Amino acid sequence: MSFCRKCGWPEPQHREVKEVFGCGERFVMVERVPASVCKVCGDVTISDEVMDRVRELVRGAASPPREVLIEAFTFVWDGVQVLGEDGTERNRTGGP
Ligand SMILES: [Zn+2]
Repeated sequence: MSFCRKCGWPEPQHREVKEVFGCGERFVMVERVPASVCKVCGDVTISDEVMDRVRELVRGAASPPREVLIEAFTFVWDGVQVLGEDGTERNRTGGP
């Protein structure tokens, strides 16, 4: 029996998921990835074996069957970016 690595709930359900994998500046989306999904917290676990196959797929394919647009956002609180250019945390209200 396996347990959710996040909340410890037993027996995550086997499902096929759509996942985005990042590798440097490149992002790839892979559909129908077999994974274990926790019905309580929704945590998605992908086995090492499946991850190896994903890497093979991504490396081996000259061009993917189709392309999707991925939009890039930076998280902000009320218009104030929390992380500075140097990666240090700023005060959420913007004050000292
Ligand atoms: Zn869980």
